[in-house]
Amino acid sequence: MTSYLHTFPLIAPADEKGFIYRGFIEINQVEHYIELHLPRPHSNTSANIYGSHELRTIISPFQSIIQSRLDQCQDVGMFLSDLKDTLENISSPSVTHHTRVKPSWERYALIYAELNTIGYDKLDSMDDTMDEFIFKCKDLGGRLHTIKAYIPPQYPLQSPVIKAELPSEKHHIGYMDDSKRDITTSTITTTTSHSTTNHQSLSALLDRTLQALDNYQLFFSTMDQLDQQTRVIDPDHPSRADTWRRIALGNHCSLQITIQDPSQPTKYIPIVRFFGNEKKVLPFQQAWHQFINAQQWQPDISLVENLTRALPSVLRSKYTTSSDRIMDTATKEQDDDMACAICYAYKLVQSTGDDGSTDKKHQETPDTICTNQQCNRGFHPSCLFEWLRSNPTTTRSFNVLFGSCPYCNNKITIKAIL
Ligand SMILES: [Zn+2]
Ligand SMILES: [Zn+2]
Repeated sequence: MTSYLHTFPLIAPADEKGFIYRGFIEINQVEHYIELHLPRPHSNTSANIYGSHELRTIISPFQSIIQSRLDQCQDVGMFLSDLKDTLENISSPSVTHHTRVKPSWERYALIYAELNTIGYDKLDSMDDTMDEFIFKCKDLGGRLHTIKAYIPPQYPLQSPVIKAELPSEKHHIGYMDDSKRDITTSTITTTTSHSTTNHQSLSALLDRTLQALDNYQLFFSTMDQLDQQTRVIDPDHPSRADTWRRIALGNHCSLQITIQDPSQPTKYIPIVRFFGNEKKVLPFQQAWHQFINAQQWQPDISLVENLTRALPSVLRSKYTTSSDRIMDTATKEQDDDMACAICYAYKLVQSTGDDGSTDKKHQETPDTICTNQQCNRGFHPSCLFEWLRSNPTTTRSFNVLFGSCPYCNNKITIKAIL
């Protein structure tokens, strides 16, 4: 029965046998006097909880629940942390009267004044307790950004935390799945100030965030241009924080481009990696290296322009068509040549959780490509595996399947996905 000592250093046994505990429990940053009387074995006395007037005020509406929990209490520490969690969730700042945290009306009045400064047109939504706000703000280039603000209960003693999608300065090489993408969302956190007079106001922080977004105008327009003019196949829905794109080149070849410095996107040559059948991708690689070696990269023209000078096939063909309907068809056909020849999709998301849960997502792209150059079709490894496994002519050696391409009967092998 000593586990509580770590979490509740201010509570100690008050008798030899450990049936009475006295001390202080902290609820929402306020310490309250508490006394617990546990039931003695072989006696009919029930457990009792005593405490300061304030504590009893908080507890009283939930007296019966807390009493039954205390009666079944096996471990004082567990009961105390349970009690603390319950009381912290149910007691709003308005019921607690304490010295360290400002009364709630003052907090609300301050937040309302801040919202007036910021302008309600920018406010998208907020929660009932005024802890979380979502703002929609336009940057210099007229792009709409979603900015989230979390206002701590101790506000204005503690500064708000602002989250916006700002490009990360780190390089992203290789695949990034959706779960990892969240990390690139930059957080503007300020140091906690201990005085009311120099706290970081919500409006000041929001201004700073907008300034930061304005500093990335060239980066945002560079990425917008890539999304509009090239055949981006990944990410599906790029966030403003994403500094990379995977772009289709045709013939199951693609390239992944990563901006080195988002604050000056064309100053440095971006990192470019190629994917696809070795022979098919070679001309693209050669063209790119020739372009770089001949020092043809020009920092003063746009990234898309540089890229199309090196590799004209990154462009969508929409400039050759006049009607939107035809453009869509053309784009569709272009994208189809990147898709898996079995399931006709580009991205295959599979759940790999034991119970089929979607916690662990595994993404596949059609990177297994038939080596017959006339065929050159691409398959998701798992689609090809399933196809070969169901084919009676397929042979198996350990975890490798040897069979033939579903289209051209060329020999094709695939490792089992474990
Ligand atoms: Zn597939
Ligand atoms: Zn084939």
